[in-house]
Amino acid sequence: MSTSLLYHGFGVRGYRYVKTDYEGKAMIFTMEQSRESYRCPECGSKNVLGRGKTTRRFRTVPIGGKPVFLALDVPRVECRDCQRVRQVELTFAEPRRHFTRSFDRYALELSLHMTIQDTAGHLGVSWDVIKDLQKQYLQRRFAKPRLIDVKRIAIDEISVGKGHRYLTVVLDLDSGAVIHVGQGKGGEALVAFWKRLRSSGAKVEAVATDMSSAYIEAATKNLPKATLVFDRFHVMKLYHEKLSDLRRDLYRQLTDTLEQDLVKGIRWLLLKRPEHLDPRRNEQARLEEALRLNAPLATAYYLKEELREVWEQDDQAEAIAFLQDWIARAEASGVRMLLQFAKTLRAHAWGILAWYDHPISTGPLEGTNNKIKTMKRQAYGFRDQEFLKLKILGIHETKYALVG
Ligand SMILES: [Zn+2]
Repeated sequence: MSTSLLYHGFGVRGYRYVKTDYEGKAMIFTMEQSRESYRCPECGSKNVLGRGKTTRRFRTVPIGGKPVFLALDVPRVECRDCQRVRQVELTFAEPRRHFTRSFDRYALELSLHMTIQDTAGHLGVSWDVIKDLQKQYLQRRFAKPRLIDVKRIAIDEISVGKGHRYLTVVLDLDSGAVIHVGQGKGGEALVAFWKRLRSSGAKVEAVATDMSSAYIEAATKNLPKATLVFDRFHVMKLYHEKLSDLRRDLYRQLTDTLEQDLVKGIRWLLLKRPEHLDPRRNEQARLEEALRLNAPLATAYYLKEELREVWEQDDQAEAIAFLQDWIARAEASGVRMLLQFAKTLRAHAWGILAWYDHPISTGPLEGTNNKIKTMKRQAYGFRDQEFLKLKILGIHETKYALVG
C-alpha cells in the first residue's frame, strides 16, 4: 500500500499513507492528514487552529473479498473567522458516515444486480445498510418523475400484502414509466398526483381506468379536457364476475347431484374463450351439456363472447350500433344479472366507446403489477412504505434484480 494506491485504488485523495494492520480477515490502512490542509468546514477558511483529533474507521471497498478499513485521526479545528470548533470535512465520506463514498457506490452497484440480502451477505454489512443506499438512489432518480410530456395515462389499484392493503398506480402509457404511487385506492390516493400534474403544465389527452365512480369523479374533475376511456379488460372482468355469480346461484338451486357436478365442472370453462376450449378434455361438450340445463346461464354465456366484440368493430359508429344491440338483447332476456349489466353499460357507454378515439387500456399496468408481485415475493416485507413506493416508481428500469 502507498499514498498513490490509496488514490488510484480507493479514490482517496489528500491524505498520506502511514501503515497497514491486519485484524482477522480485515485490513486496516491508517492515513494522516497534514496540518496545512486543515480548513473550516463551515466557511472554508484556512485561518484555523488544531483542537485535538478523533480516531475514526471507515469501511471501504473490499480487496479479494476481505473487508478493508481506512483509519484516520480526524482533526477538529477552531475557526478564527466563525469562532466554531468542528471536525474537518472528509474528502472520501459524507459527514457522520462510517462508509466511504466508493464503498457506497460499489455496494449500490452490486445491489442492482443481486438481492439486497445477497449484497449485504457478500459485503458483511446489515440488510438496512444496503436498503438505505438503494432508497437514497431511488429517491434521487425517481421520487419526482418528470410530468410535462405526459399525454396518455392509465390508473389502477394493486393489492399489496395481506389485509387488502392497496396502492394506486399511475402509468405513463407512452414512456411506460410509473409516475405516481398513492396510498390506498380511490380519489384520495391521487390528490398529490393531480397537484404535481397541474404544476408541471402537462396536457393529458386521455386516461384509462376502470368504471369505478371514484376514478371517474377524480379524472373528470382534475382533467376536464382529457378523454376518459374505460378499460376493456376491466369491463370484461366485471362481466366474468357476474357470470360466475350466476353459475353459483344456479348451482345452489340444483338438488340433483349429477346436475350439480355438471354445473360445478364448468366454473372455468364459462370464462374461457370458445376457441381455447380443449377438445381432448371434452370441454365444449361438457359446457354445452351444462348450459342446456339453464337458459339464463346459456344466454349470459353467449352474450359474453359478443360483448368482447364491442372493441372489435371497424369504427365508433358501428361500435355504437353493436353496443346498443347488445344492451337491447340483454334487456330482452329478462335475466336479472343481464338487466343489471345492461344498465351499467348504458351508464358507461360514453367511456367504453371512447376507446375508438383513444385505443388505450390499463393493460400495461398489469405487467407492472406482475413485476411488483415478483418483487414482493423476494423482498423482506417492505415494511417501509416509502421504500416500496420508490421501488415501484423505478420498476420500469428494473432488470431482474432490483429486488429483495
Ligand atoms: Zn469558519
